[in-house]
Formats: sequence, C-alpha cells, structure tokens
Amino acid sequence: MSNGSNAPKAGIVVVGSLNADLTIYTDRLPNPGETVHGNGFAVNPGGKSANQAVSASKLGGQVSLIGAVGDDSNGRMLLDSTANAGVDVSRVRRSDAATGVAVISVDAGGENSIIISAGANGTLKAPEPSDVEADAFRDAAVVCLCLEVGIDTVVAAAQAGHDAGATVLLNLSPYAEVPEVLAGLSDVLLVNAHEAALFLGSGADIPDAAAEAEAWEPVRDQFADRGLQRVLVTLGAQGSVVLDSLARGTEDQITRISPTRVDAVDTTGAGDAFTGAVAARLAAGESLAEAAAFASVAAALAATKKGTQAAYASREEVEAART
Ligand code: ADP
Repeated sequence: MSNGSNAPKAGIVVVGSLNADLTIYTDRLPNPGETVHGNGFAVNPGGKSANQAVSASKLGGQVSLIGAVGDDSNGRMLLDSTANAGVDVSRVRRSDAATGVAVISVDAGGENSIIISAGANGTLKAPEPSDVEADAFRDAAVVCLCLEVGIDTVVAAAQAGHDAGATVLLNLSPYAEVPEVLAGLSDVLLVNAHEAALFLGSGADIPDAAAEAEAWEPVRDQFADRGLQRVLVTLGAQGSVVLDSLARGTEDQITRISPTRVDAVDTTGAGDAFTGAVAARLAAGESLAEAAAFASVAAALAATKKGTQAAYASREEVEAART
C-alpha cells in the first residue's frame, strides 16, 4: 500500500545479514590443534539483521528485509523463520554463494567462540532502484542497519534511507571503523559499552550504570563532535542510556533506562531484540527514550528463553510485563 501524503510513514526496512547459527555445546572449548567431544548441536536462524527484523515484526512493526541467502537448506530455514514472524522477505536475494553461517562453540560456563562465514551476505550490494522505489522503502519511517554486510552496502542503504526521509538507525555491530559519511547519515546510533569505547577511541571513559547522568555528559559531547547527536548505549544487565543532544533541556538529553530484572537464561541476541524493538517503537512515533524503555523490556524477555528469534517477545507480552 502506498503512503498517502497525510499518513505518517510507519514502515521499517532492515538491510543486512542472515546467518544460520550452527552451535555446538561442549564442556570446554578446544585449544588450537586439539579435538574435544561435544554434547549437543543445534542449527538456528540468526544473523543480526534477520534477528532485528523478527524482533521488530513480532512487536507490531511492518518490516521489509533486504539481504541475501544461498540456494540451500540454511537459506530456506532463514526465509521461513523470518517470513513466519511476519517479515516481508520478497526482497531477499538468492545468491550463488552459500548462505552465511556462524559456527558457534559454547562451553559449560556459557563462554563462547564464534567464526562467521559471510557467504551470501558478502554478495549483498547496495539497494537497487527497484528497492528504493518500492512502497516498503518509500513508506519507511526507519531504516535499520548493522555491520554484518559490506560497508559500501551499509553506506548506500543509509543514503537511500536518508533520501527517503526515514530515520536511519545504525547498530555499530560487530564493531568496525566506519567512514565519516556513514556517521553523518545515521540519525540514531546504537552501541553497547564496548563498541562505544572503540568508536570514541582512547580517552573515552564510558561510565558504568551506577554513574549519575552528569557522568555521561562528556560521552554525549564526544559523540556529538563525531556527528552523532542521538545515541543509545546498552549496558547488558545494567540497562541502557539515551544520549540525545537534540533534546531541549539538559535533563532530557541524558536518560538512564533502568534494567528490567529477569532470570536470564540466554542473552544471545538480546542486543538484536533491543535494536528491533527500538526500530518498531520509533516507527510507531515514540521518542528515543520511550522506545529505549520499551526495548529494555523486550530484550530482557528475550534473555529469559534459549535461542534468538524464537525467544523474542510479542508486543502483548512486553506490554503485560510492563504493567
Ligand atoms: P549486546 O548483546 O549487543 O552486547 P547488551 O549486552 O548491552 O548488548 O544487551 C542489550 C540490551 O539487552 C541491554 O541494554 C538490556 O536492555 C538487555 N539485556 C541484556 N542482558 C540482560 C540481562 N541479563 N537482564 C536483563 N536485560 C538484559
């Protein structure tokens, strides 16, 4: 459905990665050259962008995913999983390369090591004219990006989102240095504390969650100096912080979001649940601080169940948990 001039744009376009997560469980991770026995194996849908798209869709967003998979069983699994969550996958390309995989080893203490083979994700090019002219892009309130596909693709998608008048939400993960132009095109940056420190470089002191709001002022200013005026910093079980240099008063520029206390079982993909939830609530017209408060609950609920996409909460579940 095309957007009439009076109706606010409400769609979400996610451009990026789809991976099959191949996870093996073992008592301890092997040393180089060593073989150890595993005690369980699972194949699950993953990839940051696929996860973020599923999270946003389950929370009521109208989501279109642009990505690439191979012509193989992992690709079919990923298309099924995202489509079953309500995501429009008609713009996911079929590549000659194999579907991307993340080979994950998890030890008894929950420590993991991960190798990602980008495969088809590496073949994803900039959004094509047909993508950009499609209703999904023209009606996008939010374009959601991460760094699991080539940086040129991310920059082109950010430019297309910007040109379409959407809010460009960049999740700077997995961390990589980004060209200045990308920072300039990003309306909202979403980072964890580790990524925030890497982005700001030496001299940046990321306060802990217990710190007063004033302690975040230098961090807000350092991001603003780099062209990023609206930033969300996630702090794991400690919650998150919204830094919004564009907000009117100083009190509104730094908002600390208290953690939602849960019995966490598996925090894998909690960050993606958070990002997708922020996209969904921004697209619904909420402020950044409101979206972050909602996302905090969605991400905490995701941590209470094993797995990623299958563990993500619906909007009703998040609303029930907030009351
Ligand atoms: P990432 O997984 O990208 O490193 P974080 O660990 O900061 O990101 O987690 C993202 C968000 O998920 C946090 O801001 C928080 O809202 C939620 N979260 C993560 N772990 C927990 C937890 N153990 N309990 C409650 N919420 C959590």
